[in-house]
Amino acid sequence: MNVTKEDVILAIDLGGTQLRAALIDASGQILSREATRTDVVGGPDAVIEQIAALSQRLLSARPSSKIICAGISCPGPLDTHEGRTFNLATLPGYDGFPFASRARERLGVPVVLEHDGHAAAYGEWKQGAGRGFDDFIYLTVSTGLGGGAVVNGRLLRGAGGMAAHVGHMTVVPDGPLCGCGNRGCWELFASGTSFLARVRQRADIDHWLGLKEFGREFKSEDVFNAARKGDLFADEMIKIEGEWLGLGIVSILHLFNPKRIVIGGGMSANFDLLLPGIEAYIDKNAMAPFRNISIVKAALGDNAGLVGVSFLAKETSHRKGQ
Ligand SMILES: [Zn+2]
Repeated sequence: MNVTKEDVILAIDLGGTQLRAALIDASGQILSREATRTDVVGGPDAVIEQIAALSQRLLSARPSSKIICAGISCPGPLDTHEGRTFNLATLPGYDGFPFASRARERLGVPVVLEHDGHAAAYGEWKQGAGRGFDDFIYLTVSTGLGGGAVVNGRLLRGAGGMAAHVGHMTVVPDGPLCGCGNRGCWELFASGTSFLARVRQRADIDHWLGLKEFGREFKSEDVFNAARKGDLFADEMIKIEGEWLGLGIVSILHLFNPKRIVIGGGMSANFDLLLPGIEAYIDKNAMAPFRNISIVKAALGDNAGLVGVSFLAKETSHRKGQ
């Protein structure tokens, strides 16, 4: 397949809140972007119509571009080989839906469906903080906790394209019930959502002065800002969050033996405050040869998934000769 100057890839990032679309060239350069609120109630058929509409809007602004293939980054679990979604926690009505083939019919180009953690990992590997590393793990810490693994210079996919579902490692047996059906998953202790829940709970107990300043609706960012101003309670809460992250990362180090860990997602905006807690936990608990690990903030921000899925779409279409 010859990718000429005018050939572009349609990259889609499907989330429980936002549906984002971009036209991206063969080198991974984002040419233009659009976004809309995900039609959650309408289910997958409605979302495919939204994708078609976004694609039309993008193309009408760049009439010289031609979409040659499309990649959709989607929350898991999903079977990337069959292009089928399963029961998605944030998006009801997707269980068993043949998303890739339906999108292909609607858009008229080859479509690949990729796990959002894998897509972002691939983006960071090709163009971001994982560049040049044959063994690295990408973690996204936001409302949820997910990731992707590059091992021996290849994206680790697994039998159904679901490898490295790190957020659902059990870290507390008989812990709270997770949306996945299991109990005590890492995501329930180390995601941004659980960080905020823990702060709110403890703030009630400790009558944190921050409550007066922010009211009950304070956000994660407020806690980080308070810590930057010297608030000891906020500082302690961030240290605990860093340690929960470190706890999962220790298992990841032992399992995958990466050279680098790249942390993205909303919580990574305050990566500098989280890192000491993470490193302290690793120094204390990882086996000695695993402790020499580079942990860095992701470089592509929320573009990682779009960039990554564009590369995956291009390479998959090329491989299949479509
Ligand atoms: Zn879980």
